[in-house]
Amino acid sequence: MRNPHRKVVFIDRDGVINVDLWKYVEHWKEFRFEKGALEGLKALSEKGFDIFIISNQAGVGDGIFSEAAMWQVHEKMIAAMAKRDIKIRGTRYCIHAKKAKCDCRKPKTRLLEKAVANLNFEKEKTYFVGDKTSDIEAGKNFGIRTILVRTGYGKKTEKELTKKLQPDHIVNDLRDAVPIILKTAA
Ligand SMILES: [Mg+2]
Ligand SMILES: [Zn+2]
Repeated sequence: MRNPHRKVVFIDRDGVINVDLWKYVEHWKEFRFEKGALEGLKALSEKGFDIFIISNQAGVGDGIFSEAAMWQVHEKMIAAMAKRDIKIRGTRYCIHAKKAKCDCRKPKTRLLEKAVANLNFEKEKTYFVGDKTSDIEAGKNFGIRTILVRTGYGKKTEKELTKKLQPDHIVNDLRDAVPIILKTAA
């Protein structure tokens, strides 16, 4: 028997899950959950979604902070979520320098591909939720739906949208993305 379809959602980190500081989040003490993020994550987790966090952290490759520091923030974030019964299926970071021309920095799709390599899911029912054009492009490049949130860089991104680059939906924050995601998955 084939594995049943999973419900998958990809979510950007900085500016969606946590407040984007307009610099890298290098220490846990700088990490603040973004408005609506915990509620949104909790709802998706409760509905059985496989949640994947997909994040560019070029500050590591560019020598601004260490990979160990990044993982420390990661572990604390996951623990803070677990305390609220939010389960994250996987997190994928691109730590390469901006100029490294790696194959995983969004809007490239390698991180998404690797995250769901062994999962059976339907792309047409799957969203990428992000606050930058690179998130929307990554979603489109991967052949899934996209939601732009107005947290983080979102309001700025909204002004930069072109006819060619349009998310499927624009909402205020992650919590407001949930009804759209649930409706499409149903
Ligand atoms: Mg972001
Ligand atoms: Zn990379």
